[in-house]
Amino acid sequence: MSLQEHRLLIDGELCEAEGGATYENLNPATGQVIGVAPDASAGDLDRAIGAARAAFDNTDWSTNAEFRARCLRQLQEAFESHSDEIREMTVAEVGCPVMLTHGAQLDVPVSGLGYYADTVDSYEWETDMGEAKPFGIRSRRTIRREAVGVVGAITPWNFPHQINLAKVGPALGAGCTIVLKAAPDTPWAANVLGRLAATETDIPAGVLNTITSADKLIGATLCTDPRVDLVSFTGSTGTGRKVMEAAAQSIKKTFLELGGKSAYIVLDDADATIAAMGVAFQIMSHSGQGCAITTRMLVPRERHDEMVDAVVAMINGIGWGDPNDPANFAGPLISKVQQDRVLGYIDTAVAEGATVALGGKAGALEGDLAGGFFVEPTVLTGVDQDSTVAQEEIFGPVLAVISHDGDDDAVAIANNSQFGLSGAVVAGDVERARAVARRVRTGTMGINGGIFYSPDMPFGGYKQSGVGREMGVAGLEEYLEIKSMAEGI
Ligand code: NAD
Repeated sequence: MSLQEHRLLIDGELCEAEGGATYENLNPATGQVIGVAPDASAGDLDRAIGAARAAFDNTDWSTNAEFRARCLRQLQEAFESHSDEIREMTVAEVGCPVMLTHGAQLDVPVSGLGYYADTVDSYEWETDMGEAKPFGIRSRRTIRREAVGVVGAITPWNFPHQINLAKVGPALGAGCTIVLKAAPDTPWAANVLGRLAATETDIPAGVLNTITSADKLIGATLCTDPRVDLVSFTGSTGTGRKVMEAAAQSIKKTFLELGGKSAYIVLDDADATIAAMGVAFQIMSHSGQGCAITTRMLVPRERHDEMVDAVVAMINGIGWGDPNDPANFAGPLISKVQQDRVLGYIDTAVAEGATVALGGKAGALEGDLAGGFFVEPTVLTGVDQDSTVAQEEIFGPVLAVISHDGDDDAVAIANNSQFGLSGAVVAGDVERARAVARRVRTGTMGINGGIFYSPDMPFGGYKQSGVGREMGVAGLEEYLEIKSMAEGI
């Protein structure tokens, strides 16, 4: 039985949106309505911000680290004890293949709550800096880390549990209170989190609040409201720019995880099959709807055709379609809007001179899936490094193959991007691969198939891919202020 939640969490109460307003939640694999979600109003959001402010100002949440760690463990246990129902709900709401819920779509982010509980337990909240005599005055000095305050968290639809929990875990662990504003397309993931927090943990009223709304702009208030101390945003670079501009009015701290156009660099001594396997699984994973997916494949010019043949063969061997089929690695896109957007990019690529070596059309499936928002896995070749599909984020199962003329050229093409989120390099000689990885201006890099994704590894972008780091100790510290104190002695 799939777990759904039709209520918001505000000030410790599971409640309907103002006036009982709801909107329809669609299954992207079928296009069918699967239920409703609360359609929060500006008034609901205002109450949630007020509750988070009061909980921060009037309770000992921010100073009781032991209690916070316990609450995070309770939340982890709550998710784990309902994992089957949440898994089913996630496949229906997100359209992600069930296989991926055993990784980044559910199980790994849930384990991240335990990671943050342990980190809160072991973190050095105060550092003794010993004595010094600045201006001749003997002083005993301490550096203290304190919670930033009220966090406004705004999240996208592509990996809702991963992104919601990668904000809620460290923000609560740091001692902040939070208003989580989820993407309109994936409301249940946030409201189930609210329900579990309210019914199966001791998290006090107001510490965690969830807001879902059909109005995708409702969260803009979180960027301007003076009661919010920090905005933690994950989404597109264009929206991130608006968030930063709005937050600038009150000099709010902003933490941004944005888009990517990451390069998968194949050096001339790489094994074609190994290289093709890595990039094929990336581009197929959740149909390319991941910010860190490597969507530009840079291949040695003299091995171009061999690499294209290898990657096409590899993609053809990976299952896609029904997300409930445990053999599938790719499902639908989240919405008709995204499906049209991705198909539009493929048309643009062809108009700008690229060739479609595989796919290129809407996925035509049968039965219930005929109404789903599928796009065929697509490989574009002869892509110019400055063309639209080499520069803009597509967010679909579309791989752009670009030729390079050696290691220096590959690094230059990889860095020819407004983004700097992720990347990968594959080579026979690992030392060469490491040297290339160090020169790529991105926040994460995989070398010869290595996976950086894990709750204890910081994740984030250089350049217009973001500001700050999520996950790892760095992820906790985004939600902390630093206070330097000195006692005269
Ligand atoms: P989006 O930018 O359209 O929306 C993200 C969130 O912001 C949603 O909750 C939306 O309702 C809200 N929003 C939209 N306009 C707003 C405004 N003016 N003020 C405040 N909030 C606003 O992104 P999306 O389409 O939901 O998600 C896809 C994007 O997210 C891709 O660009 C992807 O790369 C990016 N992403 C980045 C990461 C990362 O960690 N770097 C992770 C996942 C997704």
